[in-house]
Amino acid sequence: MHETVVAESILKTILENARQTGAKPVSAIISCGQFNVLNDEVMSFAFETAAAGTFCEGMTLTVKHIPMRATCKQCKTTFEFDIYHPVCKQCESGEFDFEPDAPLLLEEIEFEENE
Ligand SMILES: [Zn+2]
Repeated sequence: MHETVVAESILKTILENARQTGAKPVSAIISCGQFNVLNDEVMSFAFETAAAGTFCEGMTLTVKHIPMRATCKQCKTTFEFDIYHPVCKQCESGEFDFEPDAPLLLEEIEFEENE
């Protein structure tokens, strides 16, 4: 299952960061593109399972979905591709190229603050 592999690799990165900062991580945000799309619920569950018994147990993981972007062949405008209205936002042309899909990325880790 794709999500399990992703969850384990994210957990590993978070644990390395936590070791360096010495603080307990409370939440993290990951982002992914539309081709690399993750199921949010499956992802949360996979992460919870992977994190159980580690320093990351109980932290929350948020998945942010980055929309596909395309560049118009007519006017060179780059726009967010809308599957329900697949034309250039500027000139309404249906001729466009897709930009590379957003990679799977660990965007942010929030640590517990030491008071
Ligand atoms: Zn255009």
